Amino acid sequence: MSSRSPLPSVSTKTEPRSSGDMGNGLFATSDINVGEDVMHAKVPFVAVLDTSRLEDTCSGCFGKRQMENSAELKACTGCRVVKYCDRTCQSKDWKFAHAGECPIYQKVKPNVLPNNARAIMRMVVRTGRGKYSSQELDTLSKLETHMNEIQELQANLDRIISTSKAVKNYSETDMTENVIMTYAAQLELNSFNLTTALYDRVGLYMHPYAALINHSCEYNSTVGFDGEELFVKAIRPIKKDEEIFISYIDTTTPKQVRRKELSERYFFDCKCPKCADTQEEKLNFKEYSSTEEKAEKTALEEAERKALELMQTASASSTTPAETIKNLEKALHTLKSASGWPLTRQPYASLRDDLIVALLSANSFSKTFIHAAIRYLRVDPILYSPAHPVRHVHAWILAKLAIFLSQGYEPDPADPIQLHDFGINFHYILWYILADLASKQMESCTVPGFKKLVAANFQQVHAEFKANGIDPSTAKPLVSAEWVKLEKLVQFALDRE
Ligand SMILES: [Zn+2]
Ligand SMILES: [Zn+2]
Ligand SMILES: [Zn+2]
Repeated sequence: MSSRSPLPSVSTKTEPRSSGDMGNGLFATSDINVGEDVMHAKVPFVAVLDTSRLEDTCSGCFGKRQMENSAELKACTGCRVVKYCDRTCQSKDWKFAHAGECPIYQKVKPNVLPNNARAIMRMVVRTGRGKYSSQELDTLSKLETHMNEIQELQANLDRIISTSKAVKNYSETDMTENVIMTYAAQLELNSFNLTTALYDRVGLYMHPYAALINHSCEYNSTVGFDGEELFVKAIRPIKKDEEIFISYIDTTTPKQVRRKELSERYFFDCKCPKCADTQEEKLNFKEYSSTEEKAEKTALEEAERKALELMQTASASSTTPAETIKNLEKALHTLKSASGWPLTRQPYASLRDDLIVALLSANSFSKTFIHAAIRYLRVDPILYSPAHPVRHVHAWILAKLAIFLSQGYEPDPADPIQLHDFGINFHYILWYILADLASKQMESCTVPGFKKLVAANFQQVHAEFKANGIDPSTAKPLVSAEWVKLEKLVQFALDRE
């Protein structure tokens, strides 16, 4: 780590410099290896849970301690809106901001303010109590607000004004509405998805130093959270003086989708090498010239439209879990039937992600395993580089499913694919996935909490094998034989999708 610390509780190998027409950016002050910290912020400027996660996630550690031991959370006796693991998490949050928020939350009841209003409220409370250093406020004041662009769209402006008014009224602060509106605009443009160590979204997070990092669809760093700590890690080797880039959006989508999202939400035209590359679209589909090929293109577009429609129906709140699964499966089938649709071209890949979530919550473990295996073997290696945290988290989900299946399960006779027909030994599959994850910890961009989880589980599984007189690391043919069966299962399932 560099000795330079730009802000309290931040360690980094970067410094802010001008980045041409992108305003300021962060630049490496030394070479950074894959998996190494680009920056690490111990304390957020502001972080709040999404309203839907207030019930099941601790507002003190944001779920970090729950990963290790899942005791029942206790509600704050004042407002009963936020919950905590115990007194330690509660008193930490009380000092951070909750002492100022709790009376306001009580006043608003039975309503609960939305996440962005609660985040702005936190900033107002912390500013009023002198909790921010002048350095922090100075860095914040240099961030873009894009107020002019925001004002161009009346709906955006109305939202920011009404939120700021509500925060001013409830908090009874002396801060002017204009200053609060600036906070609101900065939050809108610079906040991150706060996630658990397993990349499950739980809320909103903002840090003025991390907010200096610019976007590129060909990013060299990724963001992760371990409780309230933020980690930005290098996904590929970064040379001294190179600019740090993260991705603000899902970059697995086609160019038009990415550019639309970036200009509508962040007000800029992406000029990254991936967006400048005119070949990019052609990589996904071959060029269409003849009449036949043009007809094929129309058929593909029609399939995409149908699949997106099914996805939308599947996510509607009125849809039952069983219907959701049916719609997503139908959408997968629609895309698969449109010849020439690669597994990794969106929305195919995200459809499968949605289906895995839906199947998991329906306790349909053998079906989930099949889709998680397809993702692990066929999709992720193409969409994500080896150090990408998403790849490691997907592998972890597959490992968890293998643990479950290795303990025995009731096959569902209605399943079109019967897992036991493939005679897979899930113990070996599990061992291999964990051994592979454990061996790649150094170069992985996952956060420390995730690495700890992998290491502990691998040790346990390996010890169980040893206790039975087997060392899978010296029994390669046995492990490979199971891997061949897994490949066969994946191919069989894809042929029938
Ligand atoms: Zn906690
Ligand atoms: Zn409270
Ligand atoms: Zn781009």
